[in-house]
Order: sequence, then structure tokens, then C-alpha cells
Amino acid sequence: MTSVPATVKTACPYCGVGCGVLATATGGRGATIAGDPNHPANNGRLCSKGTHLEETIGLEGRLLHPMIGSERAGWHEALDLVASRFAATIAEHGPDSVAFYASGQMLTEDYYAANKLMKGFIGTANIDTNSRLCMASAVAAHVRAFGEDVVPCSYEDLDQADLILLVGSNTAWCHPVVWQRIEAARAARGTKLVVIDPRRTETAERADLHLAIAPDTDIALFNGLLLEMKARWQLDGGHLATRTSVNDGFWESIATSDVAAICDVAPADLATFYDLFTDHPRTVTLFSQGVNQSTSGTDKANAIINLHLATGRIGKPGSGPFSITGQPNAMGGREVGGLASMLAAHMGFSDAERDRAQRFWQSPTICPGPGLKAVDMFDAMAKGKIKAVWIMATNPAVSMPDARMVRVALANCPFVVVSDCIADTDTQRYAQVRLPALAWGEKDGTVTNSERRISRQRSFMTAPDEARADWWQVAEVGKRMGFSEAFAYPDAASVFREFAAQTGFENAGTRVLDISDRATMSNADYDDMAPFQWGGASPFATRDYPTADGKARLIPVTYVPRADGSRGMPMRLNTGRYRDQWHTMTRTGLSPKLSQHRREPLVEIHPDTVRRLGLTDGGLARVATPHGASIFRVAATADQRRREMFVPIHWSDQTSGGGRTGLLPGNDRDPVSGQPGFKNIPATASAYKPGWTAFLVTRTRPAAPDCAYWTAIRTANGWLIELAGDGDPADLVALLPQGERAEMIDARRGVIRSAVVVDGHLHAALFASRSGGLPPREWLVARLGQGNTPMIEVLAGRPATPVADRGPIVCVCFDIGLKTIVSAIADQSLISVEAVGKAINAGTNCGSCRPAIANLIPRQKELAHG
Ligand code: SF4
Repeated sequence: MTSVPATVKTACPYCGVGCGVLATATGGRGATIAGDPNHPANNGRLCSKGTHLEETIGLEGRLLHPMIGSERAGWHEALDLVASRFAATIAEHGPDSVAFYASGQMLTEDYYAANKLMKGFIGTANIDTNSRLCMASAVAAHVRAFGEDVVPCSYEDLDQADLILLVGSNTAWCHPVVWQRIEAARAARGTKLVVIDPRRTETAERADLHLAIAPDTDIALFNGLLLEMKARWQLDGGHLATRTSVNDGFWESIATSDVAAICDVAPADLATFYDLFTDHPRTVTLFSQGVNQSTSGTDKANAIINLHLATGRIGKPGSGPFSITGQPNAMGGREVGGLASMLAAHMGFSDAERDRAQRFWQSPTICPGPGLKAVDMFDAMAKGKIKAVWIMATNPAVSMPDARMVRVALANCPFVVVSDCIADTDTQRYAQVRLPALAWGEKDGTVTNSERRISRQRSFMTAPDEARADWWQVAEVGKRMGFSEAFAYPDAASVFREFAAQTGFENAGTRVLDISDRATMSNADYDDMAPFQWGGASPFATRDYPTADGKARLIPVTYVPRADGSRGMPMRLNTGRYRDQWHTMTRTGLSPKLSQHRREPLVEIHPDTVRRLGLTDGGLARVATPHGASIFRVAATADQRRREMFVPIHWSDQTSGGGRTGLLPGNDRDPVSGQPGFKNIPATASAYKPGWTAFLVTRTRPAAPDCAYWTAIRTANGWLIELAGDGDPADLVALLPQGERAEMIDARRGVIRSAVVVDGHLHAALFASRSGGLPPREWLVARLGQGNTPMIEVLAGRPATPVADRGPIVCVCFDIGLKTIVSAIADQSLISVEAVGKAINAGTNCGSCRPAIANLIPRQKELAHG
């Protein structure tokens, strides 16, 4: 038995930056976490999510045993049932009657095993992934332009660029360590930054130029820029002639008149944009979900790639179109064929490629062609065509667009299997079989980050109870379906070696993805494997593009306004992430620190629009689209364009009775990639004026409240639950736990103030009011679990000696609020983020709040008097 080293080098399980992490188990379920100074993706940095990973590795909420229905089952029984039901379904209805829905959270080994089982042994390509929702359009654009899904850049290019364009990317929040790298480059070499985003995000506020374009007008902008470069003689004739293929009529096809009007930006800003691009040939265009999550996402990505190909800004230091992924292993999934639109090892579905895959796997069959993409898969399930589905490491009942339809589909599906480390997600409620998976810290395998760098994710804690690896679960089902030899993997290293071998099988240089030099590595070498980049730092610096003639393609793309009209809904809705939360909060929601940054799901709306719609800043609004509606807290902000709104994606049935963004987008999707349009959705907002508002601070979380709006967020000692509804607020008292109670109730005015004390310590406090007047939460949250607090102060909701209001928390590492920072800036005349850090520590740990602090410095006067 090998001894477990004290500190383990692993990789962060959240975003596609793929930061290296040093994890040191401290006994039980504890660990200390630090950035790995030797990992090339982050050089020791971690953002707030990575920094607070140790708060998320406990066993709370874990699924620890296989479950059939609501009964605990043994692994053999559960796996036998999965295999027999899949086999029976296939026998009766054919291979296309079953499906697998995977996730960018899975390790490459997990993905590889699942893809092999579905495409090679069951004989259907009905395996798709939540990465379809994240970056499928970038994949499709790469294949169209380069012939293969190859990201042509590395993070090093960000260090060497003179101009960085961020398109549809709130990098400071969603990829914070890449953002810190960009800021370092700007400080070191004066790199110019242009942000193209309808919202003025923290990222946009830091830019030299922010183009707040109208949603989905990116194609017009980039076509306009390319034509302007042509007019200014800025094209690279040599690169165009020798390394690209440009069809007749291409230039006519991208003709775009009046770009400024289409994009709704000032002509002077557009001219500045053109000048910056002209003056800075070393350009990286980093793009993310604002490009991909669109009904024209593939064309948008190709418009960006066209620009780089035509100006020769690719394959050179500091240059290239750079798609950055949302999930930690979206790229690994792409490599092994985790998408229904790819086969394996970057092969397509031609007869020759299918034959090659079948011979490599020595499989009894092979899928006849592409399978159902995510939306189509759940649509087929709703129509009864998919009769058995296995969902792994994802929560589609929350994260898919048109979540209501997805729930209908899951309810209709005769056999649903869910593998997850969490016991109760919205999706698990539809499962007949639940299989306990390993969580981060227990998993062992590989992940690939946005720059094609493969890193080991290593375990540093033992698996709890009966939780087992995802690849093992797939292999065991494969064996039970009669494929014993093909799935006889003793360990993750064996799966990785087979994947590595497949990338080189009859490749002969036709595909850039080739890691077959790892196919014979020993288990010890696999354990020790250092991060490495397939394709090298700049794959197209010298080698041909992986097309039949070795040339890249410029793709004609034309701007077409989105056709869904207003449908009586004059606003447009955009969706996205918060800085400190991840996906559906099943893990980051466990962290009290991370929960401080945004405690409720906010709908952000321009103040003029708030007034026009009769809303109230801090009040509640019902946001509706043609597909659904949900209630959000209103945040008035001039960072929004006037006819647009923004809502976060994170809240689920587990955490909220409102804020359900998944209900709002429809199934409209990009015709090439099948990626749904999560942004630019017709919408409207109207005031929701509840009969009462309330909040509860409590050590123990009650059952989900039955009212129009509620959100539950973790605090250091318990929970903060915000509530609003109609009817009699006295019903809320049922939410209080048992204990010694003190209360003040004015039934006529609908005022309730009730506190519960257990063993002399404050256990819960409930405040409700019909007039909306409620005390601040901070002091009560801090008193939770404490003794010796006078009841009169608890019922007043404030201490006898007032404490300063810190304002909303900006720096979660040190619990520092906005008002504290603004006061420090004003009182001490601080003029830099570093000076603020020295004075009050804010921003000196993970650095995720540094953009917010930087943006507060010039605004402190306005905020101090606001
Ligand atoms: Fe993890 Fe943050 Fe690094 Fe992303 S930027 S990989 S979330 S530490």
C-alpha cells in the first residue's frame, strides 16, 4: 500500500482556468488549500472559489450509498438493475432509445468510459453533456475554421499581447485567475483592454474601452472590423494566400452597413476600437459565454476567428482567438467524444472514422452517426422516444433551458439513473436509481483546461462509505451488459492509457490531438504526471491546419437580427454567473464565506427602467419570458442597458422559491452547434408587492417555506432565510425550531418578532412585517449561536450600542463590506488597491475582489454621498 503524501498536487474543480491546487489533508474531512506555485495555469494564485474549497469538502448532503427508489441498495443490486434495464430497453426499442447525459465536471477517464460504452458498445451517439450549454459553439467554429477542435492559444499569449479583446466575458468574476494575469500584463507592458459586453461588469469598468453593444450584434461588429482592416490595408496577404482558403464571395457576404447603429454604440467609440486594433498587431480575443450561449454562437465565434486568420494574428506570440471554457473539464470531454456531435479522439462520423474507432475498441458495433444534442435529448425524452437515461455529475432540472420541459421529460422517462455525490438535487427527485459518486478530493484522474493543458486531479481523502468513481460505475455496467473484456479496467491509469493510445491510432499527423506517447506510461508515471499541453503552446505556429489541404477556412457569416421579436415583451433578458458561486450551488452553497457576496438572486435593471416599470430598488419583481416566470430581488443599476435585465443562474428548488433562472430561457438554439441561447431572451418585469416580508436567522434549516418568494443562504453559524408572501404572516411561526421563546407580536399591524433560545444560546429569530420595515440582518446573523445576548436587543433587531453598517460584503476572505472600504478610501485618501489592502487588508488574499475595490476608488465620493 502506498503512503499518502502530506500535500497533494491536484486541480481546482470549478472553472476552465484549471488552476493547480496544493491540498493537505488535516484529518477527518479537513484540508488546507493553497495555489500550486509551480502550476503553469495559475502560478500559485487561486480565486475566492478555489481559496474556500476547504469549506465544501465535508460530508453534509452527500449521497453515500446506492439507492433504488427511496431504499438503500447494494452496489451489485443497483448495477445489475441499471444494466438489465438498459439492456431490456435496447432489446425492445433499439440503441437510440437510451441516452447518457454527462458533465464538464467529470474527469476525462469517466468521460472516456461513458463515451466508449455508448458509441462503441451500445451503438448510439446519444451521449451529450452540459458542456453543450457552455461552449459547443466554440467547438463547432473551431471545426469549421481549422478542421479540428483546437484552441490555438495559451495563457502565455495573454502575457505577450499588446491588445486584449474580451468578448462576452466577465473575466474578473468568471475566470478570476486569468483576469489577474491580464491585469499583470497591463501593469507590466501597458496592454490595452477592450471589453465587448452589453453589461458594464466589473471587467468592463476596468477596460480602456467598453463597447456595450446590443445583445447578439457581435457578428456585425467583427465583420465591420474585418472590413475596416481590409480598407486600411491591415490584412496579412501572405497568411491569407498560403495558409487560408477563402471562397469567392466571402468579402461580399460579410458586408455590413452602419455597424455603429446595429451595435448601438457611439461612432467615436467604434473608431477608437478600429484604431486600437490597427495599432496593436499582437492581439488576443478571449471569448466566452456571451458569444457561445447564443442562437448565433457558432457564427459569432467564426466572425472572431475570420478576423484573426485574415490579419495573420494567429500562431504568433500574443495573438489568437481564444475560447475560454466555463467548466473544469469541458475540454477533456471534447477530447474523448463526450459530445453527441463528435466521435472520439477528435474524430467525426465518416465511415472511415467510425470504422477506425470500432477497430480500435474491437467493439461489436459502432454508432451510425451523430446523436441527440442536449436539448433534443430531453425533447425526445418528453416525447417518449428516450426510455432510459443515465445522468452523471450534473443537475439538468435546474441548468437546462426550459427547465419545466426538462422536468416533464424526466418524469416521463421510464428509467432514470443519476450518479452524483450530492443526495438531493432537483434532478435526483426523478431518479429510480441513485449512485453515489466521488467528490473533489476523492477523485483521481485527469482534466484539461482552456489552454489544452492536461493536469492530474488527485485524491487526498479516502472515499466515504460506498461512494465510487464514475468510470468504475460505467465499467461495471458495461461488464454486466456483456462487455467484460472491454471494460476490465483495474484503475484510472488504465483508462487514461487507452485514451492516449486512441489519440494516436492511425493518426499519422492528421489530428493535432495526439498524446499517444503516454499510452505505455506506468501507473507510477501516471501518478506523478506533471501538467502538459497537447499541441504545444501555439499549435498552428508552424504546422498545417488539420484540413484536407492544410489550410484554415474563412467562414462567411452574416449578421441577422434575432427573429423572436418582442412577443409582447419589450425587454431582453441576459443570464450569467456570480463571482463566488458555481453552477447550481450544490458545492459553493456549502461555504458561508462564498455565500456572503450575493445573498439573493438579483434582477439587475437600469434605474430609469425600474421607475418606468413601477419597480422599487430592493423590492421584488416578477420576471417573465414566453417560457416561464420567477421572482427576483430588484437591483437598480446603470450598469445595465435600458431595455435589458440580468439574472444569475445559480438558484434551484433547494435554495429558493424564486430566482429560478432556468425557467426563463426557451429551447431556441444555434443551428450549427445546438447550443441554447441563454441570453437576449424576450422578457418583461412587473412589481410583486407581497402582503408581508420577513426573514429568519436559524441554526437549523427548516423545511422549504410555502410562500411566493424565499431564499436560503448559509451563514457562519446557520442560515439566513429571506421570505415574502401573502396571507397571514403568523403562519411563519411554524418555521421556528423548538426552544424557549420570546416574542413581540402585533397582529393588527402584522408585526412578528420572535426569538428561540436553546441552552442559553440564540437558536433562531424571526422578523416579519406587513409594512416592509425589517431590521438589518448582519448583527442578528452574528449573534446566532451566541449566549448572553439580551432578549430585548434581539427583539429590537439591534444592539443597545449601535454597530457600524459594513454594507454588502466585497472581500469575503476578510469579511469586509463596501461601506468599510469606501470609508477607508475617503478617510485615508487611498488611491490604489494596494493602499486599500495595506490599510484594511481587503483584497490581499485571493484577489477576487480587487477589481471591485479598483472600481470603488474613483467612485468613492459618489458612493459616500449616495
Ligand atoms: Fe478554480 Fe478560481 Fe482557478 Fe477557476 S480561477 S480554476 S474557480 S481557483
